[in-house]
Amino acid sequence: CGIVGIIGGRDVAPLLVDALKRLEYRGYDSAGVATLQDGKLDRRRAEGKLGNLEGRLASNPLPGHIGIGHTRWATHGAPTENNAHPHFAGRVAVVHNGIIENFASLRRELTASGAEFVTQTDTEVVAHLVSHYLSEGMASRDAARAAISRLEGAYALAILFSGDDEEMIVGARNGPPLAVGHGKDEMYLGSDAIALAPFTDEVTYLEDGDWCVVTRAGAEFYDASGRQVERARRISRGAA
Ligand code: GLU
Repeated sequence: CGIVGIIGGRDVAPLLVDALKRLEYRGYDSAGVATLQDGKLDRRRAEGKLGNLEGRLASNPLPGHIGIGHTRWATHGAPTENNAHPHFAGRVAVVHNGIIENFASLRRELTASGAEFVTQTDTEVVAHLVSHYLSEGMASRDAARAAISRLEGAYALAILFSGDDEEMIVGARNGPPLAVGHGKDEMYLGSDAIALAPFTDEVTYLEDGDWCVVTRAGAEFYDASGRQVERARRISRGAA
């Protein structure tokens, strides 16, 4: 339901939660954040309100200067902590808004090649699919793109990788909105410019079929055919 991502210069978990709070008006049943610290992914998730997630983070803080967060409005799988995003598979963490229509056939295919699914969500296939392409030796961004090209349905996605030399979040959009926020020495992703308003009012919306690679240095945008494209940067009036 709500997506945020931050490549920052400070611990991002509290910032991710603050950004998610700005999306609370959309409704949600659970929430979670994942960060990358010393090349490793870790996460905290909780059922119910963001206050529950904040409680988890208070008793068990999550360090890391790069991370993704999500508020979930369950469509596939009960609104439990285990089904809350981010979903992990191998070196991959994923948050997703929308519905992957062909998740059942992808899940069968991935299970047949050894993937072990641990949730009832449609989203988990995205993590396993990216992980599958990584295991075939693809670079992170290529694995993400290969996986995205297999997806049918509506999605906004943010994908984070562990063990990479380059700190990077891959975003993709087909239906639900996704915007890149341009900060000063920090970069952001959000399903809504309102989520990013505390950090920046300079945003670039992905068009349908677009995917993007966000690093500390900036963002590159690609269309569905893989061609690099220019997307306009605008000043968001949602800024507060
Ligand atoms: N279909 C996904 C799920 O049920 C994402 C739902 C959402 O947009 O929050 O986990």
